Amino acid sequence: MISFLVHAACFCGQVTTQLPVALSLFILTLRGLSSAKTANRGNLLGMAGMLLVIAAPILMASRNLLFTKPSQMYFFYLTMCTLVCGGFIGYRVAKKVSMTALPQLLATFHSLVGLAAIFIAWAVQTSPYTFGLIGSPEEYFLSEINALELAIGTVVGAITFAGSLIAAGKLHGIIKGTLSYKGRKGVTLTLALILVLLIAFYTICPCTHVFCPILAISLMLGYLLIMPVGGADMPVIVSMLNSYSGWAAAGIGFTLNNILLIVVGALVGMSGAILSSIMCKGMNRSIRSVIFGGAGATTAPTCSGTTQPKGNVKLCSGEDAAIILKNASTVIVVPGYGMAVSQAQHALRELAEALQNDDVTVKYAIHPVAGRMPGHMNVLLAEANIPYEDVFEGGEINREFSTTDVVLVVGANDITNPAAKTDPTSPIYGMPVLDVGNAKTVLFIKRSLAAGYAGIDNDLFYKENTMMLLGDAKKVLETVLRSF
Ligand code: NDP
Repeated sequence: MISFLVHAACFCGQVTTQLPVALSLFILTLRGLSSAKTANRGNLLGMAGMLLVIAAPILMASRNLLFTKPSQMYFFYLTMCTLVCGGFIGYRVAKKVSMTALPQLLATFHSLVGLAAIFIAWAVQTSPYTFGLIGSPEEYFLSEINALELAIGTVVGAITFAGSLIAAGKLHGIIKGTLSYKGRKGVTLTLALILVLLIAFYTICPCTHVFCPILAISLMLGYLLIMPVGGADMPVIVSMLNSYSGWAAAGIGFTLNNILLIVVGALVGMSGAILSSIMCKGMNRSIRSVIFGGAGATTAPTCSGTTQPKGNVKLCSGEDAAIILKNASTVIVVPGYGMAVSQAQHALRELAEALQNDDVTVKYAIHPVAGRMPGHMNVLLAEANIPYEDVFEGGEINREFSTTDVVLVVGANDITNPAAKTDPTSPIYGMPVLDVGNAKTVLFIKRSLAAGYAGIDNDLFYKENTMMLLGDAKKVLETVLRSF
């Protein structure tokens, strides 16, 4: 794929006719992806754009194949081979991946963009003549501006690669805990300063002896920036790394003078940055602390287990829940990560339809970081054909909880935790949460009293108006529906 990317990028730089069409398709893709209703169309437009930029140069190259030298034919077949293999691997992975494992898959894909940027930068560094960046093979050094572009592309690519691998490992549960030591910020700052000096030196003397330390320090920075990040901040980090991967592609586009890479990289980079900024606001984090690592929380993600009750817990059976729901006139459903784990969205829709047929108003409240990636819950609800007009973002519906009869929390935890408002020592302090406790009755569906992703207890479980329905979300919802 890396070889393919290099060649496709070079081909696309030369083939200009399809460029405006492809770029327009990518811009329309982003527009489509901005709303759940048009997201499918956006995806299709993006796929069409990708097909165009991949197929056009291949068709052109195959048309000229008979007239090319054997060495060029070798590159053509190598490109085709990597395209088929990469496409097959991508197809298999996409078919097999579960919704709950998507965030770590995304982080892994971001790391591949970073790796591709590193490989391209290395290829340019070692043979700039091949890329047309110097006049003759005898000339050794890149121009100052090319060297600066290459250095910046390498730095962003290496930080994206190392950081995304760490993020994927953390989300997958392979890397546990956070990195915390005295003087951490000082070490990161010193490395960043050394990097700036090395880049300045590299623009004057762009040799491999300077390039290698730039690469090594950037990889270390990627590690040091993401390792200290705790569980509650991972969503912002994933979207930030998405943005970095775009800037890495744009940086390399400048080096290769490839308009397509520059524009598409900038689109990805900017949209990722805007999403990160929206998410930072949603979690009350400063974007600066996210960019420079170790934002807010320092707790590691914990695995769910059974914890000892910290007060009286009211347990509720499926039959009791059915009666409570039947007597309600307004119900707000709050889905969370547990709904994704148990794939309970279809059972939820059936229960909601039964309630609506009984004249109960049902709405859905989505917290911006519910689940394990931005939009996780929206995708699951859409998959179950839950109407978009019943789905509301947290901010707009938060006031309605106090006038709601029943809130049905399906596999959510942190996003409802009042500690975010009341406990300044909590890792999620300052994060806007859904005020589900203000409703007349709160029905919590989860398997135990265990903590959520941020690893902290939730006092809501012990409140007067809370009832716990312990069990797998899908099974519990099916029981409630049967009783209903
Ligand atoms: P949480 O992780 O806080 O809670 C999910 C709950 O679901 C758990 O407490 C678990 O409890 C329960 N659960 C798990 N499996 C099942 C099941 N089969 N049936 C029923 N319940 C189940 O998720 P939230 O959605 O409330 O909050 C998201 C958290 O994830 C936040 O801390 C956020 O910062 C973080 N995050 C979000 C990302 C994003 O982009 N959205 C990315 C990365 C992290 P039990 O074990 O008792 O069943």
